[in-house]
Amino acid sequence: MSKALYLENMFLKEFEAEVVSIKDGKYVVLDQTVFYPKSGGIANDEGTITRGSDVFQVVYVGKFGGQISHEVDKVGLEVGDKVIGRLDWDRRYHLMRYHTAAHVLSGAFYKNLGAKITGNDIASLEQGRIDFNLENFDRTLIEEQVARSNEIIQEDHPVETYNLERSEVEQDPDLVKLAMGIPKGIKEVRIVDIKNFDRQPDGGCHIQSLKEIGTISIKKLVNKGKNNRRLYFTIE
Ligand SMILES: [Zn+2]
Repeated sequence: MSKALYLENMFLKEFEAEVVSIKDGKYVVLDQTVFYPKSGGIANDEGTITRGSDVFQVVYVGKFGGQISHEVDKVGLEVGDKVIGRLDWDRRYHLMRYHTAAHVLSGAFYKNLGAKITGNDIASLEQGRIDFNLENFDRTLIEEQVARSNEIIQEDHPVETYNLERSEVEQDPDLVKLAMGIPKGIKEVRIVDIKNFDRQPDGGCHIQSLKEIGTISIKKLVNKGKNNRRLYFTIE
């Protein structure tokens, strides 16, 4: 099983690793990696894997059978190769800002309106998307939550990640509603904690303090029914 270094250090940009398996020449598993695989509605990292002077572009990263698989742009890597991985940091940092912004928005919608998030998509560097359930599709109400989210960002709460025992999560009134979706076999749950604002079980990458987000703006609102009020947003 490859070790997911990004879970412990989300600001690690470069790492040494060994190739442990290759499928069809281009799908590479390393003993450890900082590359985040596409999952949870968040886009994958990109970057390079280098062996000596050979540079392989990482064009996609996915999780297959519990393994993080890096798709590279050409064949040539071999099992046992010692390599250096480097993230496209601008891309990752952008995705982290969008991801944390989505948590702030979902916190605001839940706290102020009782609206629950039904989906999210942080797939491009140009915009993010969250879906939520809301009885009335009320533009003013939605605008208010975005304004409230920007106030929270200005308060610059720190963002922390840590693991909790599953039993602790199940006994916590704030977390229990989210714990139900966690697969049975998982004993430790990683929590992303925007201090004094919002906590969620989460396996993704986040910035360290809210001001790094900047300002959230509504790009577009789409009404896909009661359970899918859709908000496209940008940050700058
Ligand atoms: Zn998340």
